[in-house]
Amino acid sequence: MIGKTAARLSGTATRTLAARQRQAASGLPVARRCLATEASPLQPTSLFTFTEEENMLRESVQKFAQDMVVPRVREMDEAEKMDPAIIKGLFDQGFMAVETAADLGGAECSFTSAIIVIEELAKIDASVSVLCDVHNTLVNTLVRKHASEEMKKKYLPILSTEKLGSFALSEPASGSDAFALQTRAEKKDDHYLLNGSKMWITNAGEAEIFLVFANLDPSKGYKGITCFLVEKEMGVQIAKKEQKLGIRASSTCTLNFDDVKVPLANLLGKEGEGYKYAIEILNEGRIGIAAQMVGLAQGAFEKSIGATYQRKQFGKPVGEFQGMQFQFAEIHTMIESARLLTYNAARLKEEGKPFTKEAAMAKWWSSEVAQKASGSAIEWAGGLGFTREIGIEKYWRDSKIGAIYEGTSNIQRLTIAKFLQKQYGQ
Ligand SMILES: Cc1cc2nc3c(=O)[nH]c(=O)nc-3n(C[C@H](O)[C@H](O)[C@H](O)COP(=O)(O)OP(=O)(O)OC[C@H]3O[C@@H](n4cnc5c(N)ncnc54)[C@H](O)[C@@H]3O)c2cc1C
Repeated sequence: MIGKTAARLSGTATRTLAARQRQAASGLPVARRCLATEASPLQPTSLFTFTEEENMLRESVQKFAQDMVVPRVREMDEAEKMDPAIIKGLFDQGFMAVETAADLGGAECSFTSAIIVIEELAKIDASVSVLCDVHNTLVNTLVRKHASEEMKKKYLPILSTEKLGSFALSEPASGSDAFALQTRAEKKDDHYLLNGSKMWITNAGEAEIFLVFANLDPSKGYKGITCFLVEKEMGVQIAKKEQKLGIRASSTCTLNFDDVKVPLANLLGKEGEGYKYAIEILNEGRIGIAAQMVGLAQGAFEKSIGATYQRKQFGKPVGEFQGMQFQFAEIHTMIESARLLTYNAARLKEEGKPFTKEAAMAKWWSSEVAQKASGSAIEWAGGLGFTREIGIEKYWRDSKIGAIYEGTSNIQRLTIAKFLQKQYGQ
């Protein structure tokens, strides 16, 4: 599908160029030329134009979220545990292999489809959303892009249907400075030996497949970093599960690797190229987190606004006071702007165009908007919003993580600023 889209686009681009050349040759002033020439074959669309498959997928995720997730959100948050029925349901519905080829068990949809799944799940629960996000945008994508053919045939079908994946890069001493990682890999005759610790690993409590970054040759610095596909049963130990402010149903664990033997065949891609894969995957993964934050913001907004038209003070619904309505308008516009940045980054990626700055802007802005929208949603519900009774406060707790994982807000600003310096600096 992505291939077909690219082909359509390149066809359109060629026709557009031809139209421009005809216009240039006409010798008329530019504005006149636009009127004088035939209608442009380029059909610009809004960022809310989706394929039929994307629309159908959105509807099916909405249904799944209502039927399966809504009844479990509060209990999972309180218990700080993901219900296994949700993970099974996500696999059964095909939401865990959105972009994977059909012959390997996937849905073979576009990257934007994955973004839609993440956004829709986050409207209901950011924990379920990030579980699906990490599995799709980080784990599946890395395997799809860099694994050997044998590895793809062995692992993509199980990642599509039954086994959850984790992405293990961060360590206690290396967060934003991810390539200062200390986990070591040694090459032996018929295996690699992994030793070290990973921290903050999403899905680790339930995952059976881990993409682990370790340094195979520290003398080469970050150019020794290599990625391995490690099955849990090879010896991955869960050392600690974090107790968190938000996304509490999503497991976040410390992992220990103590002489873990990994078959040579489980090298992902090439030795020493792990740092490239990590940069590349986090650039696109950020669009997923942006989608998570957009969905969360929308979910909080929708949960609160309706009730303001029911709740009466001073003889009328509080939602009818202009002071409230100005806030609704502001937050609604902020959410829409975050959504547009996110969809734009997703489509740029799909079209094979540069998207790193756009992804950083989408992630930074969406996480800001999510915090603002969920905070306002609490205030609009008054005292009730502050209780755990109606579940609005959870959105606010969950929103904080958007500014931390897959690159903190400062790291996103740094990325954006680097592009600006390149463009405008001396
Ligand atoms: C719930 C959760 C889930 C996570 N899931 C995963 C996962 O699945 N896999 C994984 O590998 N990691 C995961 N992480 C790790 C996450 O990516 C890191 O926490 C994040 O990159 C920040 O690193 P740090 O916590 O070490 O903070 P630090 O890097 O120590 O940052 C502390 C502060 O310093 C600022 N700072 C750092 N460097 C700079 C700079 N150069 N300029 C300006 N400011 C700077 C940061 O913005 C931040 O405000 C997760 C983290 C959490 C909390």
